[in-house]
Amino acid sequence: MNEHLNLSDVTLAYGQTEIVHNVSLSLKKGEIGCLLGPSGCGKSTLLRAIAGFEPAKSGSITMKGLCLSSSEVNVPTEKRNIGMVFQDIALFPHMTIAENIIFGIKKWSSSEKKERVQELLQLVGLPGVEQRYPHSLSGGQQQRIALARALAPKPDLLLMDEPFSGLDANLRETLVPEVRDILKQEGISAILVTHDQMEAFSMADKIAVMQDGVIQQWGTAFNIYHEPNTRFVADFIGLGEFMRARVLDEYSVECALGYIKGDEPINYPPGTEVEMLIRPDDIQHSEDGPLSGVIVSKWFRGSHYLYQVKLVNGEVVPCITACHHDHDVGELLGISVQLDHLVLLPFCDAESGVCGMQTADVVPAQAV
Ligand code: ADP
Repeated sequence: MNEHLNLSDVTLAYGQTEIVHNVSLSLKKGEIGCLLGPSGCGKSTLLRAIAGFEPAKSGSITMKGLCLSSSEVNVPTEKRNIGMVFQDIALFPHMTIAENIIFGIKKWSSSEKKERVQELLQLVGLPGVEQRYPHSLSGGQQQRIALARALAPKPDLLLMDEPFSGLDANLRETLVPEVRDILKQEGISAILVTHDQMEAFSMADKIAVMQDGVIQQWGTAFNIYHEPNTRFVADFIGLGEFMRARVLDEYSVECALGYIKGDEPINYPPGTEVEMLIRPDDIQHSEDGPLSGVIVSKWFRGSHYLYQVKLVNGEVVPCITACHHDHDVGELLGISVQLDHLVLLPFCDAESGVCGMQTADVVPAQAV
């Protein structure tokens, strides 16, 4: 077993109210994980349990093979060798940068402390600021010092709770990959809590998408974007619309966009009613395309336009075009389908509640 951190069936509660339900995940040494989900889904509660601030109601948290939390065990936070970085940077304002960094390693010899400060300031790209005070640094620089302070004792795990959400968007875009590089250089395992999928994509090796205290999917950014296994994950990650389709054979479906052949075998038998995920880049604008639809909405996205296009059967699909294809809402837009990776989920009938039903009738393909 080469797992560094292992959460097995962890359930957490505040009083009688269960907040996190049967969460299992593991990280290898040096891997960065992310808890991603909407506000209130239990990300911080789970992080706090890993840190030792909340006891486990059931299940276990182990690190380096040692049980840290279970219904019987709760190793105190200060004995877990876990570093933490939070949204409010919380550097000590009356201490110099060097004093802030050595806060957690006071027992080290002065030469070791001095060496570690130099090493960490180099690592976070701020050599020479050791005698300055926090107020003289920018928000992004202060967050890097907070990271250096958390890394100083060489923790076995670093926990980061929304550390970038107080920073402006431009700074976040550069700082997130920088922090990832720093963690990778140190070879440290880490968990980031965020509700921002781009932050998760830039930082994490593995992402847990959480909803209502449950991990819906645990996988790489590529997996959760291209192979979402629930409707929630597909809706939460990236842009897209679901449309109704019917499985025709092992590789193909039929829907309002016509007959579409995928590159991998379909897991449902022919005749199954499914919902198919359409991402904006699956639908291309094409003047003389075989299909068309009416533009019902339009967003300018800098380098491109994102349109919502209503097909003749009333279903709406997204479509991205280059910026010079400037069309108005209400215009007919020619489209073609560039889709070979099919994301299919069982269709659930809202009235009967039956999912994945099979029908004999073929859904007619619609071209305007
Ligand atoms: P997230 O980090 O995903 O936004 P949290 O873990 O902070 O979610 O909160 C999950 C749920 O637990 C929320 O409904 C929140 O109101 C509740 N909660 C958080 N902290 C406490 C607490 N100390 N006591 C009771 N309920 C709490």
